[in-house]
Amino acid sequence: MAIAIALLVLCLFVVTLGYIGLCAGSPWKPCVRCRNKRRSRHCRACNGTGLRQRAGWQVWVYVTRFGRAR
Ligand SMILES: [Zn+2]
Repeated sequence: MAIAIALLVLCLFVVTLGYIGLCAGSPWKPCVRCRNKRRSRHCRACNGTGLRQRAGWQVWVYVTRFGRAR
């Protein structure tokens, strides 16, 4: 049982590290709303750029801003 828990924790750790690496490597992802159809200049999700920031990147920006504000 302890080995199973250790493996689970290791998996979570690896996935988290991978996601952080993904966010750091490319904080922008294609906008889901206008990916399938023609890019709309009036898309509210991406402001017409066709790119959106990853949620992890937004969290990172929020955390660093909060740290600096104190
Ligand atoms: Zn969009």
